[in-house]
Amino acid sequence: MLGMAVLIALLGLVALAWYGAPLWGWTAAVAVYFLGLFAVGGIETLGLTVAAVLLGVPLLVLNIRALRRALISQRLFTTFKQVLPPMSDTEREALEAGDTWWEADLFQGRPDWSKLAGYEMPSELPEREQRFLDNEVETLCRMLDEDDIVRNRRDLPPEAWEYIKKEGFFSLILPQQYGGRDFSTAGQSAVVTKIATRSISAAVTVMVPNSLGPGELLIKYGTQAQKDYWLPRLADGREVPCFALTGPDVGSDAASMPDYGVVCKGEHDGKEVVGIRVNFSKRYITLSSVATVVGLAFKLHDPDRLLGGDETDYGITCALVPADHPGVVIGDRHLPMGLAFQNGPVEGKDVFIPADWIIGGPQMAGKGWRMLMECLSVGRAISLPALAAAAGQVCYRMTGAYSRIRRQFRLPIGRFEGVQEGMARIGANAYKLEATRRLTCAAGDMGIKPSVISAIAKYHMTEMMRVSVNDAMDIHGGRAIIWGPRNYLGYAYQAVPVGITVEGANILTRNLMVFGQGAIRCHPYVFQEMEAVRDDDLAAFDRAFFAHAGYTINRGARALLLGLSGGRLASAPVSGWTGRYYQQLERMSSALALVSDLAMATLGGELKRKERLSARLGDVLSHLYLATAVLKYYQELGEREEDRAYVEWVLEDELYRIQEAFYGFFDNMPARPLALLLRRVVFPWGRVYRGPSDRTGRKVAESMMEVGGARQRLTAGGYWAVDRADDITGRMEAAMAQVDEAEPLYDRFLKLVAKGQVEGHTFEERLEAAVNAGHFSAREADILRRFEAVRYDVVLTDAFPPQTVTEPQAGDPGGGSTAEASAQSTAA
Ligand SMILES: Cc1cc2nc3c(=O)[nH]c(=O)nc-3n(C[C@H](O)[C@H](O)[C@H](O)COP(=O)(O)OP(=O)(O)OC[C@H]3O[C@@H](n4cnc5c(N)ncnc54)[C@H](O)[C@@H]3O)c2cc1C
Repeated sequence: MLGMAVLIALLGLVALAWYGAPLWGWTAAVAVYFLGLFAVGGIETLGLTVAAVLLGVPLLVLNIRALRRALISQRLFTTFKQVLPPMSDTEREALEAGDTWWEADLFQGRPDWSKLAGYEMPSELPEREQRFLDNEVETLCRMLDEDDIVRNRRDLPPEAWEYIKKEGFFSLILPQQYGGRDFSTAGQSAVVTKIATRSISAAVTVMVPNSLGPGELLIKYGTQAQKDYWLPRLADGREVPCFALTGPDVGSDAASMPDYGVVCKGEHDGKEVVGIRVNFSKRYITLSSVATVVGLAFKLHDPDRLLGGDETDYGITCALVPADHPGVVIGDRHLPMGLAFQNGPVEGKDVFIPADWIIGGPQMAGKGWRMLMECLSVGRAISLPALAAAAGQVCYRMTGAYSRIRRQFRLPIGRFEGVQEGMARIGANAYKLEATRRLTCAAGDMGIKPSVISAIAKYHMTEMMRVSVNDAMDIHGGRAIIWGPRNYLGYAYQAVPVGITVEGANILTRNLMVFGQGAIRCHPYVFQEMEAVRDDDLAAFDRAFFAHAGYTINRGARALLLGLSGGRLASAPVSGWTGRYYQQLERMSSALALVSDLAMATLGGELKRKERLSARLGDVLSHLYLATAVLKYYQELGEREEDRAYVEWVLEDELYRIQEAFYGFFDNMPARPLALLLRRVVFPWGRVYRGPSDRTGRKVAESMMEVGGARQRLTAGGYWAVDRADDITGRMEAAMAQVDEAEPLYDRFLKLVAKGQVEGHTFEERLEAAVNAGHFSAREADILRRFEAVRYDVVLTDAFPPQTVTEPQAGDPGGGSTAEASAQSTAA
């Protein structure tokens, strides 16, 4: 009887927790249980009375709000007030900027798979955007040669500049009413991706005005007069913008910039106006050296209250300043390594600008940080992810081809298991990069300003780019090390640190932003609790806190039961082999909800400083996002069998990384008993994910070497110079087009040579001997001859006459500067 009663109680508790029963549900269940027990004689009156006192009274207190507030919430409220770390205005603005989206579901532990299925990720762009890609972007790509741009010109060719401005490449986000192209997020991303497969220098040039720049700030916050003046001029290329935030002393912590402006009266256009005397010293500003208008961020002070408000210190403010305005010093260039986009310092001492030049007018004084945070998150979700996806495609397409064509020990190098290991990473990354790019664009096209997922996408996609480019370099060996027009990888390799550093340097993004923002923004109650404490609102705190407690109990039960069942109790929105992956991801999502809650509860504000701990939880959230992007992409592509190896590889890898991130967290969590308990709850059977198998990796590598199929589809967003004999990627394509037909003959030929069955020293002599001996027909010999020519061509590297390379010039990769370089000249 006792055993049965305990069993029923346990099952009841688990059921209540699993289904997230409300407080009254728990109360009713407890009452029914004990009354039932009493009715069947399981307990006496005394037992019932004890239960009523020990459980009934606390439950009663919890159910009667006024009582609960007075006896429990008030104390908690006081403690919270003491432990909650103070939040500066800039921190708060950064935290509040933007929206949450699918990652909030993943964070909260019960992802609603129907939401994911409902996001539109169309395989086709709107017609006018596709036309632009097929015509203008194609034409631009034909004008670009990254080697020439970087090594010879250190700039885009003049005709490319002209074309970019004339055809509105800088106006992709500007509304049509101002002459802009007004593309969708997916369209904008597709344009940058395609250009970046050809020239990263050109892609950066195009993407900057379309991401963080005056254009976006004007659209969102500009006055009508500012929009009417600037937007048509930006759209038709009369004006080239840049945006200056970073300075020598402030990079990641841009909010603490020393650049300042003081409101005063001064003369402008012959009249006395209220204006701002600004001092600034900025660096790394993309397009500054060719810009005609500078978006400038500085801290605004108004000691005499000339702006008419009560404040004297407004904080960060953004203004638009013509580059030729007196006092603005611009024009020198930084030389970012291995790339040739325009970039340089921008400085000014006591530059007087009218107050009307503040973006949005004087009433937007001090709103600059929030404006930047919102715009930055949108740009960050598009530009660097597009660049990374492009690099992923280049690595995939070129490594796939090279591994099939390049032979060592008589075999294509892509048949060696060691090479396949790197190829599998490149192939899987290309799939994951494209999936993540597309899903993240879907958020943009839904009007979401994705703050957390933009950080996830920026960090993980540029890191994937780093891995893929490194693998591709290793596999190409010397072929990718020698500079020249035949080198299609070296510039991407050198571009990696740029992608890693800009728009939120990666270490900071991973350690501070993903979980730092995610935990507060995605959590259903933490922000409410913080707001309630800030507003001194006990009633709101009480509501949020007890809902939070119920949430934690529910996620704890889910994590445990999903762990015990190996995820089998989780929902699977699809049948078939991917169903199990959905279940595993739901299991890990529940675990994240539980562990995040307990991490926040035990570490509080300290979690912000414990970056390595919060980074690991951020990794879990990120890998959940990336994994679901891949499952979604697989479905959108029609669940093709030929994609299965890619999806399996990625999902096995993502689950393994999630598991290792959790283990790293448990191993380092300061509250040791809780850490050990959590590890048992989340992984009751120990480590269960093993990572991708060699077999799956081999399938991915083999697929990368196939002509057409997945290779064609996964790299369809790039420019491959097909049919261009003057271009190495075009010649690589030509070689690949012949390989299916030529390879069996080539294998036979090499065997004959190895066995000494054909005489001769050169290919031609041996082939002739083989034909004469009847091993090949004349037609087969022709196929071999043609293939040998292209095969040999694509393995060649460049060499230059010595006299052309002995004079190193500024900007030469690896070269020195003959010009005297100047550092930042002034401190603001
Ligand atoms: C090629 C290029 C183009 C650029 N274009 C522009 C532009 O157009 N406009 C503009 O305003 N700026 C631009 N930038 C500046 C860019 O945004 C900054 O480089 C970036 O913000 C990082 O600043 P930093 O280089 O000074 O590094 P720092 O901020 O000094 O960071 C150094 C290291 O410390 C890490 N770090 C810093 N704080 C933390 C933390 N709390 N936790 C963990 N790690 C941390 C960073 O991740 C980084 O690894 C550009 C930079 C480059 C290189």
